[in-house]
Amino acid sequence: MAGQIPEELIEEIRKANDIVDVVGEHVSLKKKGRNYFGLCPFHGENTPSFSVTQDKQIYHCFGCGKGGNVFNFLMELEGFTFYQAVEYLANKSGLSLPETVSSQHTQQNNQIDQESLNAYEFLTMFYHHLLVHANGAEEAKQYLEKRGLTEDVIKKFKIGFSPYQSDVTTTLLEKKSFRLNHLAHTGVLSETEDGKVLDRFRGRVVFPIRNHLGKTVGFGGRTITDEDPKYLNSPESKLFQKGNILYNFDYARSEMKKLNQAVLFEGYMDVITADQYGITNGVASLGTALTDHQAQLLKRYVDEVIVCYDGDKAGIEAAFKAAERLKKSGIGVRVASIPEGDDPDGYLKKNGREAFVHQILGQSATYMSFVLNYLKRQYDTSIEASRMQYIEVAIRYIATLVKPIERDHYVRELANEYDLSVDTILGEVESKRQQHTPQVTKKNIQTHVRKKPQRLMPAYFNAERKLISYMLYDASIAERIKHRLGASFNVDMHKVIVTHLYAHYEAGYPADVSQFIERISDHEVKNLIIELAMQSLSPEVTEGEINDYIYMIQNEQGDKTLLKDLLSQQKQAEASKDYTKAAQLGMEIVNIRKRLKEPNRE
Ligand SMILES: [Zn+2]
Repeated sequence: MAGQIPEELIEEIRKANDIVDVVGEHVSLKKKGRNYFGLCPFHGENTPSFSVTQDKQIYHCFGCGKGGNVFNFLMELEGFTFYQAVEYLANKSGLSLPETVSSQHTQQNNQIDQESLNAYEFLTMFYHHLLVHANGAEEAKQYLEKRGLTEDVIKKFKIGFSPYQSDVTTTLLEKKSFRLNHLAHTGVLSETEDGKVLDRFRGRVVFPIRNHLGKTVGFGGRTITDEDPKYLNSPESKLFQKGNILYNFDYARSEMKKLNQAVLFEGYMDVITADQYGITNGVASLGTALTDHQAQLLKRYVDEVIVCYDGDKAGIEAAFKAAERLKKSGIGVRVASIPEGDDPDGYLKKNGREAFVHQILGQSATYMSFVLNYLKRQYDTSIEASRMQYIEVAIRYIATLVKPIERDHYVRELANEYDLSVDTILGEVESKRQQHTPQVTKKNIQTHVRKKPQRLMPAYFNAERKLISYMLYDASIAERIKHRLGASFNVDMHKVIVTHLYAHYEAGYPADVSQFIERISDHEVKNLIIELAMQSLSPEVTEGEINDYIYMIQNEQGDKTLLKDLLSQQKQAEASKDYTKAAQLGMEIVNIRKRLKEPNRE
């Protein structure tokens, strides 16, 4: 599986990257006993069933059954190949892969469009260099200065400038052996109707858009000559999918986790300005409505998001949609209110960091009070009929609140505002809740049922599982079992596992699950190994306990061999027309099948 990367190097890389740290960058983990728990990044859930074990260096989800070591985690999460996962972790820990291996893999790797990625990376540096050092970028510099951006922040976000002359970029790319037609096809460059390939951003200030791995996958370009359109983005492509990207996510990630809170802006200018003012947990959707994917991404890192959009009608409209989407994903939401006609970028420059932190973020409304305010604006509450409609809708929203104390709070507010009886409104809210409750419970039951039913398994089955757990944990136990049982376990999957395990120890490897599964290519087998490795064991297993397990496993085999034998004897008796003997054998067969809990078939 490892290809041409030396095995020792893979081991070194694996050991240099603690699985708790690597997983912890993507999942909020809390320590409980010996293990860490968090929300599974591979299936939607609200209670943590995803666990990571530091001493075994593996993860396992009790909900969806996925598990593995640090490489498997990145392969599953990022869609990496094994090589990419190894390379990613090598870079992280300052180790490098042999030159020959890496170029070979770059050529083979046609799943990701490496040429476009390289072109984006190259252009990021090129545009940035032009802005900072070249003559002819004065206007662009002035524009950024006027917008109040410092040199530091320009450097951090690699803001650049694309030259006016239409062929500078393309000539340079060609010189660097990029294929212009390919780059036009993947959207890095644009193409005119008569087939001429051009730099789409010429004459614009360019903002690189990085994906969550920190790789540039697109650009945003702002005109400095009032050319239309004012803002221009790279087109959607395999690399650049707006709905999957949150601007600045890679930089903001650690601060978001630290504060357990993210600030969601509408555009990258707000994020950059906020960063300049020391607010470094900001991200932005890229001019499109927040998607489920983006909400789920945020949910993995924070419990609360403050939506901080423009203060105009369109901004409030968009904030309402974003807040709804976040709420549906199970994230706590607050909504900041920027004074009308302003945006976060402008507000920060006029009023500074303190005001922004205290007046805007600090005073942000709870989800419900924002929603009620928003809804109220849709109705003319001075007219009775319209007012009643508003109250009706408000009650529906209040009824969705889970905590009684919160419902009570908003009911009182509503009652006070319109001089209504608290009891009446509370009654309405409760009856709305009851209408919804049956559905909710039904859903809950369904999700419970979906989980693997815990059937009562026969003794030998559990004995085999326990034994394998001990064998994974201790090579000397495996050695003893090899002599006494070999691979004659009753469950096929268990047979496969112990066979692999004996080979693993025979090759001189230590008892290390995380390393062991490296050689297992079958997902089902691998997940089962992880599951067994996660079973809790008593630290000191006695000889007696091991013997009990062996007895249960052999006993099962004894019956099975006997059954096979009796069945063939019965066949012979029938063939020689000895029906009395056949009937006697039949009785014995029934009894053994009863013991084995096998159905009797004729
Ligand atoms: Zn899961």
